[in-house]
Amino acid sequence: MKEVRTRFAPSPTGFMHLGGVRTALYNYLYAKKMGGKFILRIEDTDQERFVEGATEVIYDTLKGCGMDWDEGPDVGGDYGPYVQSERKDMYLPYAQELVEKGAAYYCFCTPEELDERRAAAEAKGEVFKYDKHCMNLSKEEVQEKLNAGVPYVIRLNCPTEGESAYDDVVFGHISFPNSDLDDMVLIKADGMPTYNFANVIDDHLMGITHVMRGMEYLSSTPKYNLLYNAFGWDIPEYVHLTTVMRDAQHKLSKRDGDAYYSDFIDKGYLKEALINYLALVGWNPGDDREFFTMDELVEAFDIHRLNNSPGIFDVTKLTWMNAQYIAKMDFEDYLKMATPWFDQVLAGKNMDYRRLAELMQGRTEVFNRIPEMVSFLAEMPEYELSLYFHKKMKCDENVAKENLALVLPVIEGIQEWTEANLHDTVMAAIAESGKKNGAVLWPLRIAISGLANTPGGAFEIAYLLGREETLRRLHAAMDKLG
Ligand code: GLU
Repeated sequence: MKEVRTRFAPSPTGFMHLGGVRTALYNYLYAKKMGGKFILRIEDTDQERFVEGATEVIYDTLKGCGMDWDEGPDVGGDYGPYVQSERKDMYLPYAQELVEKGAAYYCFCTPEELDERRAAAEAKGEVFKYDKHCMNLSKEEVQEKLNAGVPYVIRLNCPTEGESAYDDVVFGHISFPNSDLDDMVLIKADGMPTYNFANVIDDHLMGITHVMRGMEYLSSTPKYNLLYNAFGWDIPEYVHLTTVMRDAQHKLSKRDGDAYYSDFIDKGYLKEALINYLALVGWNPGDDREFFTMDELVEAFDIHRLNNSPGIFDVTKLTWMNAQYIAKMDFEDYLKMATPWFDQVLAGKNMDYRRLAELMQGRTEVFNRIPEMVSFLAEMPEYELSLYFHKKMKCDENVAKENLALVLPVIEGIQEWTEANLHDTVMAAIAESGKKNGAVLWPLRIAISGLANTPGGAFEIAYLLGREETLRRLHAAMDKLG
């Protein structure tokens, strides 16, 4: 069997859309699974859209996720160059070959003429399709115009009757009426190839066996097949991928801040979790496994299990998965990643981050939620007295007042401010008083945190706050309780 060669062919726009990351992932997984090659090709023929630094964004994202390419602009390979703009001189001779074969033709219609005809068609309520106007030129007329330097494009000569069909791995048998095909431009007036042309030439020259890309290319593929056939080249396998959606009606959008890979990384999602989750948006392993390392994904991946219904990117599910990944992270890595988020609210507070991280790791769903969760350590929040009420703990305002009055002097007496000391001293006092633990510890924690839910209990929080701040908060609570 021929070696499998897949490619990821992004246009450098400056951002990596999640759908693009998933396309790259499936290409990577399939190549690795089949012992083949994963190729990175930068499609920058649209020079107007050139964005400085955009290729680096692509490199960093793929590398960061562990999708190393076997051939590409930076690592080279036998089929380079791997940047389309560096290949620009290769395309025209192929287009000219098609002209010779009658599969393509020169078109000298000016943009103004085309606009006029488009407007006229639209006025009649028709969709404008190039009308093959320049197909009527004789060979001599064409040559004259070329000699005179009249600007031209080269167009594909599409059939107008019958239909074009092909088989797609995900979507099955696809067919389009040829009357839908337009004589697309292959070579633009500036001499550059269009994406539509370059992708076919490049995929052929680079020996691509499987073209995996977004389903927005389903309807152009019959035109690409016309090109392959005109050249007499093998048509690759097509694997069109459904769109990654937020829900049944909505695409992920830049405006909602949920479209780009970096949106999620910046918020503090782990790349491992994001990749794991993305793999499952549009593919399933055929069993109920949900957690996969990259190697496990390679092992399990199968293009025949790609879904043909839109993949729903469920942020709630991703967040759940992210929390699982965070909980299992190496502690030192967690501490390192959490530190800047702690700093946002705790910088300069002389806080034991290591202890705080121990308390927070199992509760962190996404890193950007950390500041809000720990800000009570920086500043005592406002709270309602009703927070002291807790049925199960047998606590209310009066109980709180009485029990805080009991432990306040005990805590004031503690000199060596450790969690163990706090624990042992206060627990001994509670035991001696004959009170229920909950009826003392609940109000104690409210008094120093102002929150019903906190990372850690009363002793951990008191330790983190330090002696002075803990006592200050306890006195304030006593005042508040009257
Ligand atoms: N450059 C195209 C894009 O970014 C690639 C499409 C393809 O994979 O053929 O959409």
